[in-house]
Amino acid sequence: MYLLDTLFSKTPSKSSDSMTKPIYLDYAATTPMAQQAVEAMLHCLTLEGEFANPASLQHGFGERAEKIVEQARFQIAQILNCKANDLVFTSGATESNNLAIKGMALSHQKRGKHIVTSASEHKSVLDTCKYLESQGFTVSFLRPDAQGVFSLQDVLQALTDETILVSLMHVNNETGVIQELETIAQALQERGIFFHVDAAQSAGKLPIDLSKTPIDLLSLSAHKFYGAKGVGCLYVRNRKKTALAPLLHGGGQEFGLRPGTLPTHQIVAMAIAFKIAHQRMAADFQHCQRLEQILIAQLHQLDGVCFNGNPQQKLPNILNVSFENVGADALIIALRDEVAIASGSACNTGAMEASHVLRAMGIEGDRLYGAVRMSFGRYTTEAEIIQAGQRICAEVTRLRQLALE
Ligand code: PMP
Repeated sequence: MYLLDTLFSKTPSKSSDSMTKPIYLDYAATTPMAQQAVEAMLHCLTLEGEFANPASLQHGFGERAEKIVEQARFQIAQILNCKANDLVFTSGATESNNLAIKGMALSHQKRGKHIVTSASEHKSVLDTCKYLESQGFTVSFLRPDAQGVFSLQDVLQALTDETILVSLMHVNNETGVIQELETIAQALQERGIFFHVDAAQSAGKLPIDLSKTPIDLLSLSAHKFYGAKGVGCLYVRNRKKTALAPLLHGGGQEFGLRPGTLPTHQIVAMAIAFKIAHQRMAADFQHCQRLEQILIAQLHQLDGVCFNGNPQQKLPNILNVSFENVGADALIIALRDEVAIASGSACNTGAMEASHVLRAMGIEGDRLYGAVRMSFGRYTTEAEIIQAGQRICAEVTRLRQLALE
């Protein structure tokens, strides 16, 4: 066990120097921060910078802190093409999803108690919906097709006169599959049904234009686009009409929707990271495409390899692969010190249970239990991908041979 202060002391640790650096292929769980975002963050922590409480408007320290929080809000809003005051800062996408779904359910239950979502959502949506079921709501969990996609028809068929909200993710965190939102959003708007989108995996990677797509609620998380962990936001279109009920009560910050002292440092870093992600969107996308091609070509050297999720409709930074006759947990453990990969969502680890996303796609047996997620990003190099691919192929071969002995 480390003591935190020894961890941060300037003396280099001997053991880590002599070891080869492990390769990080778990960007979908979280990304390292962009250096500029770190620097902005540091500026907001100490007496010399904007450390003050942004709600302390009786003095200049607070005023300056408030000013940069509002600049950050404005900058994020510009990229999403929405009004700055439609953004509510939260602790991340889990909280944004909870606020959107429970907040909507609480305030609109007189109109109806039916919610539509999908069986392949993130746990923060699934468990929130299951909680609402225990409170008397009815939830329809749509099943994606075998490639992880929903059609407009799937959504429309699930609607009833009681439906108040549809909640779907933009990009799946386990497969990278992109859900087309435009036509679904239009159809729901025509029917007066609110639409929530969990954009944790797509923000900063795919364009989202809220002036064109009629999404009512959109969840973002900074640590998926090179910002800090512990901050995100919820876009709320037309606060009066949406009339979300807050989950927390207190100081009245964030239009009364999310009280609590704002973490200036995290918010400012989030805005910087989001801007960089937006500016580099095409470059980062192409970089990941190139890495994905290399990795796919390498893995194809093995027999019994199966890629999960629609290859024509996915982000290139996430690759979900099943290896015949190799359990995901055995492979992940075997590679542990060299290549960091995951089985599905980080929020499920510890349990190492089979992926609910793949299950919802109808994937079973070996293909289900052998599925691993490799995800990479801006700082992953081609050399790392090649090395990781070689290590993965070697381990898969070794584990298969072991199974035969
Ligand atoms: N939704 C999706 C699609 C995610 O990938 C994640 C992170 N695994 C979350 C929600 C939760 O985000 P956060 O860690 O910011 O709470």
